[in-house]
Amino acid sequence: MKQDCGFTTGLLHKGLKNLKGQGEILPAISQVSAFSYESMEELEKVFSHKSMGFAYTRIGNPTLSAFEQKINILEGGIGAISCSSGMAAISSTIFNVCESGDEIIAGKGLYGGTLDLFHDLEKLGIHTVFADVLNGKTIRELANERTKAVFGEVISNPSLNVLDIKEASEAAHEAGIPLFVDATTATPFLVTPLSLGADVVIHSTSKYINGGGNSIGGMIVDGGKFPWDFTKHKALSEYKKYGKMAFLLRLRTDLWENLGGCMSPVNAYLSYIGVETLGLRMERICKNADALAHALDKEKDITVNYLTLKDHPFREYVNRQLNGYGGGILTFRAGSKERAFKIVNSLKYSLIASNIGDLRTLVIHPSSTLYARLSEEEREAAGVYEDTVRVSVGIEDINDLTEDFLNAVRNTETDDVR
Ligand code: PLP
Repeated sequence: MKQDCGFTTGLLHKGLKNLKGQGEILPAISQVSAFSYESMEELEKVFSHKSMGFAYTRIGNPTLSAFEQKINILEGGIGAISCSSGMAAISSTIFNVCESGDEIIAGKGLYGGTLDLFHDLEKLGIHTVFADVLNGKTIRELANERTKAVFGEVISNPSLNVLDIKEASEAAHEAGIPLFVDATTATPFLVTPLSLGADVVIHSTSKYINGGGNSIGGMIVDGGKFPWDFTKHKALSEYKKYGKMAFLLRLRTDLWENLGGCMSPVNAYLSYIGVETLGLRMERICKNADALAHALDKEKDITVNYLTLKDHPFREYVNRQLNGYGGGILTFRAGSKERAFKIVNSLKYSLIASNIGDLRTLVIHPSSTLYARLSEEEREAAGVYEDTVRVSVGIEDINDLTEDFLNAVRNTETDDVR
């Protein structure tokens, strides 16, 4: 977002005119499957994109459109497409540019579901080449003529590796490849990746954007600057005449419609309401995470991973790229799986749940859940060990959180600690 006003002011006031109607301050919920017209001629024009309008919710709906425009303004893109989930957004983005025989470069420290997806894509002939850490150097080393995209998480979940967006985009662009980033954990409150050179931003809106833990959703935002070479990116070749708009238009009018992963209008409405408090929530969540991480870090028998901790390998990015914040996720290693379970089970103010970005603090043992399908080597490369606990810090009062976690850590046995 252009910084002509503050983050939250912009969130609340920009794009209101997009809500065509009776002066509503929020989008109406168009919870319908289809839209009717006075004549067949009118519907024909809508189908052939000769007149604006909606025909069928899988291919467009006013509530989805309002939410898409809200996120597009926030990220500074040329257009956004909402999806049924973050995974639908990631898979649609990859399918939009990759065909069988193509390659993607990605870092190893990705969200487990994305790693699983990249395994699944192997069966369709789309191969992922993994870098231990995704950066300019590894992108340059791994890029070849088959590479069609570089994919990275801005702050990887849960390893907390930070992608240097500027450096990665420069290296990708040198090789004629776009940089796709999953910015779910960073959110536009910490960074707007398109402004640093990324080409497409993806969100699981199920997390911090929705913020209330009430709907699954995804979003793809196109920066519209990548100069597609249609002899290289053959998947987009039918859209050559649209130049830099080719990615978005193919996705909107072709692939996304046909894959069928649209967002439900109610979810779009709930996420639209949710995102309006993103700035307030993220500020509180990041402050809480910082305080909790520092309190836990003083405990001798656990090892804490949080970006603002002294000596964290990616600490310099907090001020350089992340608006001064470390995000809402921290992890710690408890010494053994048994102790990790005991700590998690004894927390009063954290819910054991497989999600992040909720108002409530959520905890999980990733190795036995989100990463259960992966090998030990893949898990460890993603920063997930047998004794790792992931904490998605919420907006509770920090004293309650700190006391609760410190009690849980101190009241569990330490005999078996590394
Ligand atoms: N990307 C990241 C970084 C995630 O953490 C998740 C889910 O946890 C996803 C994508 C997938 O999102 P969804 O659950 O909405 O499909």
